[in-house]
Amino acid sequence: MSVNVEALVAKVPTGLLIGSSWRPSSSDEVFDVINPATEEKLAAVSSATSEDAVAALDAACAVQQQWAATSPRERAEILRRAYELVIARADDFATLMTLEMGKPLAESHGEVVYGAEFLRWFSEEAVRDYGRYHPTPEGKNRVLVARKPVGPCLLITPWNFPLAMATRKAGAAIAAGCTIVLKPARLTPLTSQYFAQTMLDAGLPAGVLNVVPSASASAISEPLLADQRLRKLSFTGSTPVGKALLAAAAQNVLRTSMELGGNAPFIVFEDANIAEAVEGAMGAKMRNMGEACTAANRFLVHESVAEEFSARLAAKIGALKVGNGLDSDTTCGPLIEQKAVDSVSELVQDALARGARAMVGGHTINGSGYFYAPTVLVDVPRDARVIREEIFGPVAPVLTFTTEREAVQLANSTEYGLASYVFTSDTSRALRMADCLEFGMMGLNVGVMSNAAAPFGGVKHSGLGREGAAEGIAEYTYTQYIGVRDPYVG
Ligand code: NAD
Repeated sequence: MSVNVEALVAKVPTGLLIGSSWRPSSSDEVFDVINPATEEKLAAVSSATSEDAVAALDAACAVQQQWAATSPRERAEILRRAYELVIARADDFATLMTLEMGKPLAESHGEVVYGAEFLRWFSEEAVRDYGRYHPTPEGKNRVLVARKPVGPCLLITPWNFPLAMATRKAGAAIAAGCTIVLKPARLTPLTSQYFAQTMLDAGLPAGVLNVVPSASASAISEPLLADQRLRKLSFTGSTPVGKALLAAAAQNVLRTSMELGGNAPFIVFEDANIAEAVEGAMGAKMRNMGEACTAANRFLVHESVAEEFSARLAAKIGALKVGNGLDSDTTCGPLIEQKAVDSVSELVQDALARGARAMVGGHTINGSGYFYAPTVLVDVPRDARVIREEIFGPVAPVLTFTTEREAVQLANSTEYGLASYVFTSDTSRALRMADCLEFGMMGLNVGVMSNAAAPFGGVKHSGLGREGAAEGIAEYTYTQYIGVRDPYVG
């Protein structure tokens, strides 16, 4: 596909959005955005300082009261217009994501639809944030319960889903009546910048959404988490950074939503439809080149079907076409940066050194761009790092089990608890697995389950809170109880 990169990038604001205008950083510093498929510079974006972060919070606080007082319908209609604009600009958004993040263009288009869906979903939820009114049990007084916006929020997003991670948070915050300071990932700011401009074009009032890309994440988070005017932190990213932010947020007893790392088990029972399991595995593992918090990290396969499953998976994974995501035949793009390739490579080397065997892949790819060959590992020992750590790359390690109990024990033996997948044709077994698995989400005979209407989130070290669904907007409101005197007492 021929893309006029310069013309596209020229549409994207490269400054900071503070209040009503895009402006340069107070230090005048910029940082480069790199195309991971070519290692070429795409753009230079202003790098916000701590001073800019505080100015962004000033702008958010200045309009918070006014924004909270707008009608739910008004907020809903802005979100609906934004949904339509994102869809109208789908080609731009998709190409930008492929350029700055690497995923194949077809997957970027998939993310545009998924990301836009949060705007549509929350436009619908904005008008349904109900309270309640009822008598106390003894019948004397009344209980009135209202939901109120929490107030100014700091939203910190990762690089792997540059649009959807922003809309999933900002859509909910806007619907609830909160104002926002958004800090996008340093590696992929362009999509967020274009999204913010799209929100302004949809009629979002100045100051409701402020955007502060920065080369220094802590320059933004530290002053804001220490500022008593901030009321909420929503973070998606790695578990170590999430833990540090939770500790900082404790100082002001902030409301927090944390979407952190995962180590998803993908369990295939002997009664599963193997063709469907392999198809599901391709989605759960290879979507986004494996750079997803929901990515299947460990394939736990019943010993009686392991050989067949591994062979069929290896055939499909080996047939993936690795390349620049802009090329129409590419089905697996580059990883986000060289550090990511090194880290995936170390995990694979560790497994091979402990006796694992690569059925396909198992190596880096020379040339420009940050590529790693799609890989299937079998005979992986249970103590290999690749089983215990989040891979975040196109590597599928396969382990075997004998009993259902063993599968549960293996699946749960991780500090993470985000996504899990179960393939079986036995309904009772499926329900037993849902009971026994300690994960916030379970895909049953399905490899991709993210949806704006579903409550997305984890337990254990994978996080706190939920995004999407009705739970998603509740994260941006607090409950106020009003005790009402018996209306019949004179
Ligand atoms: P990361 O933790 O390095 O960065 C995430 C965001 O936090 C970025 O905006 C980054 O600039 C910022 N950040 C980094 N250090 C910071 C600090 N000290 N203070 C404040 N902000 C800081 O993670 P990443 O590499 O961008 O993303 C990959 C991780 O995100 C993986 O672990 C993945 O599982 C997780 N993730 C989770 C979900 C989910 O919904 N659970 C979704 C996507 C990604």
